[in-house]
Amino acid sequence: MRILLVEDDSLLGDGIRAGLTLASYAVDWVRDGEMALRALADHSYDACVLDLGLPKKDGISVLRELRQRNIRTPVIVLTARDTRQDKIAGLDSGADHYLTKPFDLDELEAHIRAVVRRSGDLAQPLLVHRGVTLDPASKQASIDGEPIALSGREYALLLDFMRHPGHLRSRAQLEASLYAWGEEVESNALEVYIHHLRKKLGADFIQTVRGLGYRLRGEEK
Ligand code: CA
Repeated sequence: MRILLVEDDSLLGDGIRAGLTLASYAVDWVRDGEMALRALADHSYDACVLDLGLPKKDGISVLRELRQRNIRTPVIVLTARDTRQDKIAGLDSGADHYLTKPFDLDELEAHIRAVVRRSGDLAQPLLVHRGVTLDPASKQASIDGEPIALSGREYALLLDFMRHPGHLRSRAQLEASLYAWGEEVESNALEVYIHHLRKKLGADFIQTVRGLGYRLRGEEK
């Protein structure tokens, strides 16, 4: 899953990026409102974590322009301000959630899961496909009730597939959900992760669609 983090405070931004990266998100970090709008227009993000007090363009203006352009990326607003007016302005401008600083990372992650679930129309917190269950809250996977150990990248890849059951996922889409800007993408890494997932979940759980990408095998009719 790919997240855009917009935060001009170096220490806080660094902490959030490190925490979310550890939690297997691919995190792109920008520090002003103009960069944020450009990134959101050019790339597809599963969620945006947006500070309100920003150089060049403040967070509320970013939100308004984003929604005017009909970009529907879920947005979680972060702010030190906690007055009622600020919250109302944020929500009226198209924020999905509001988080007041200081907050802890677990709380931010729970908000991300909630907005992503809502944007994907997934009522269920658990993702289930062909006997495989994935719990984004605990990052635990199981097959027919038996827990399976996954590395961070394997988890991130499986999460991408299970959020798009039956959909073809191209190499570019899968890599975008695994790697942030500046992270080196080893040329055959994706094949290696898919190979590992097939060993753990069954050889035909993920199908190769020649020349196009991969998809989860459909449910049995
Ligand atoms: Ca700020």
